[in-house]
Amino acid sequence: MGKGRVAVIGTGGTISAIGRDAFDLQDYDANGTMLDAAELLARCPRAEGDPDCYAVPFSAVSSTAIGFAEWRKLTLLCGELVDRDPELTGIVITHGTATLEETAYFLHLTVKVGIPVVLTGAMRPWNGLSSDAALNLRNAIRVAACPEAAGLGALVVMNDEIHSARDVSKCSTARLDAFQSPGHGPLGRADADRVAFHRRPLRNRMLDTEFAIADIEALPRVDVLHACAGGDGALALAAIAAGARGIVSAGFAPGETHEPEAAVLRQAAASGIIVVQSTRAGSGRVPSTSRLVANGFVSADDLPPHKARILLALALTRTSDPHRIEPMFRRY
Ligand code: ASP
Repeated sequence: MGKGRVAVIGTGGTISAIGRDAFDLQDYDANGTMLDAAELLARCPRAEGDPDCYAVPFSAVSSTAIGFAEWRKLTLLCGELVDRDPELTGIVITHGTATLEETAYFLHLTVKVGIPVVLTGAMRPWNGLSSDAALNLRNAIRVAACPEAAGLGALVVMNDEIHSARDVSKCSTARLDAFQSPGHGPLGRADADRVAFHRRPLRNRMLDTEFAIADIEALPRVDVLHACAGGDGALALAAIAAGARGIVSAGFAPGETHEPEAAVLRQAAASGIIVVQSTRAGSGRVPSTSRLVANGFVSADDLPPHKARILLALALTRTSDPHRIEPMFRRY
């Protein structure tokens, strides 16, 4: 691998956590110790040909504490790093795994840089027995320095695999292979001999999106409602009462809800709230059936509910017209 220069932004999470001892693989948060990006780099074994790296302090928190304010700062920070350092060849962001895929998708839609942006985390704390933290960090750095990784949007490197931010989900609470791209698979792999890509994403991303973060001070409220058999629509009414401008329904596959809940959602759509129909299935597209269209709902395509929420919130910063929002779910 050729050299390069990679900035490593640390935000916290398990990858930076230090447990009480090597066997503390679950309750390590209680130890209250997280390393910052400089400390992670100092402890991460790297080979002679690996890129040069420098640390960019950001935060050291559980990713359950990360939301729009941090996403906005991260998007702006990526732009600033590139402006400040024209020699920079890639950016790595270390992050807790709980919300990693949401941060990654937000950056995928809003960061405006041409160099690779790679997120990584770990399923086991830095000092845990058989921890994946150091290997994930080193692999993320290698991918970030890889010219083929440019222009692919935000990438997530975990467990030797390279995933598109759009496709990847944490599919298990604790396994090392928790991060998967259901129905799509990884874009490539960070193997010991080289970083190997197999395919490129098709949907618009990063430089090719219409979302200008500098102009967005706050995201409109969008709530996600998880459908259950017998759902009576009470939570949909609560979302409307809370001022939601958008509602994402995590419906029964392929994309439906119990009729009393559907009735409330129809009223919401008729009143100008954008209702996006996603599914709780974990993979697969929501088809634009005649019922969906008659209800006035927008299909989430194959975005899971929490990512549909991000796209819908960003879309609502541009327009409230469902006919303009609907194509965005096919474009991004
Ligand atoms: N609670 C942690 C976090 O998301 C979990 C992890 O990083 O794996 O920050």
